[in-house]
Amino acid sequence: MGTIKIALAGPRGKMGQEAIKAIFQEENLEIVAWIDRVIDANFVSQVEHIYGVKLPVYVDAALCFQKEAVDVLIDLTTPEIGKVHTQIAVDNGVRPVVGTTGFTSEDLKELQKTCEKKQMGCIIAPNFAIGAVLLMKFAQIAVKYMPYAEIIELHHDGKKDAPSGTALKTAQLMEAAGNPAQNQNHMFPAQGLNAHGYNIHSVRLPGMVAHQEVIFGGDGQTLTLRHDSFNRASFMSGLIMCVNKIMDLHTLVYGLENLLDDEA
Ligand code: NAP
Repeated sequence: MGTIKIALAGPRGKMGQEAIKAIFQEENLEIVAWIDRVIDANFVSQVEHIYGVKLPVYVDAALCFQKEAVDVLIDLTTPEIGKVHTQIAVDNGVRPVVGTTGFTSEDLKELQKTCEKKQMGCIIAPNFAIGAVLLMKFAQIAVKYMPYAEIIELHHDGKKDAPSGTALKTAQLMEAAGNPAQNQNHMFPAQGLNAHGYNIHSVRLPGMVAHQEVIFGGDGQTLTLRHDSFNRASFMSGLIMCVNKIMDLHTLVYGLENLLDDEA
């Protein structure tokens, strides 16, 4: 397959900056345009200085897709605008790889319908860290044999939601493994939030990035699975994998774990 041409939305953000570094290291990927809230000449010349390319900035995503030959939109923005960009991309035949969090199940249902109608690939991945996704998979195996479990998720103090989407997803996948949670009844607030039968504890502290533990208890033994994202580079191999896989998809895929099956 030839070069995959990318429009990157949110390039000045923390994830956007990390994504630029990662994409410029990939020979088969090429950024052709930025989609941003503002046209920031400093940013454009900074990229030109570092990578030797001067790229157009579009505030209007639809205009970007009309003017530039774009295969894939990478969206790393905010929930409100991320949803708009994704819809515009699908309407214009551009495949979205979305790291932006905050899509509701209604948003996903709507997108799924459009993608199926258009036979278009679209990936929404709230967690690009392959280690975090593997933790979920290992937890699904462990819970079959050790159904007493609790989840602790730890994040930086700027995180806007609690519990994390990853913790909720982990609980959901553990429930789906078919051995119902056997925890003590949830009686006190200090036991955390009960979701899908598992108590989830949320810790918010400066110095943290994104961390999760699942602790399984059994007779005279415990098993702890833990994943740590120490910086945003941890999300990049998953992002690059999504961009490479999306050209062969014809539907909506929600969650990186659904792309790992054929790899593991
Ligand atoms: P951030 O640093 O705040 O970056 C967001 C960027 O989006 C900013 O540059 C912001 O510009 C820009 N933006 C705002 N409105 C826009 C618009 N209308 N059009 C284009 N760009 C717009 O946040 P971040 O830490 O990079 O995170 C970005 C998203 O990724 C969040 O939703 C976060 O939850 C998610 N995330 C996902 C993963 C994953 O693995 N999938 C991991 C970490 C974070 P201004 O600053 O000028 O407003």
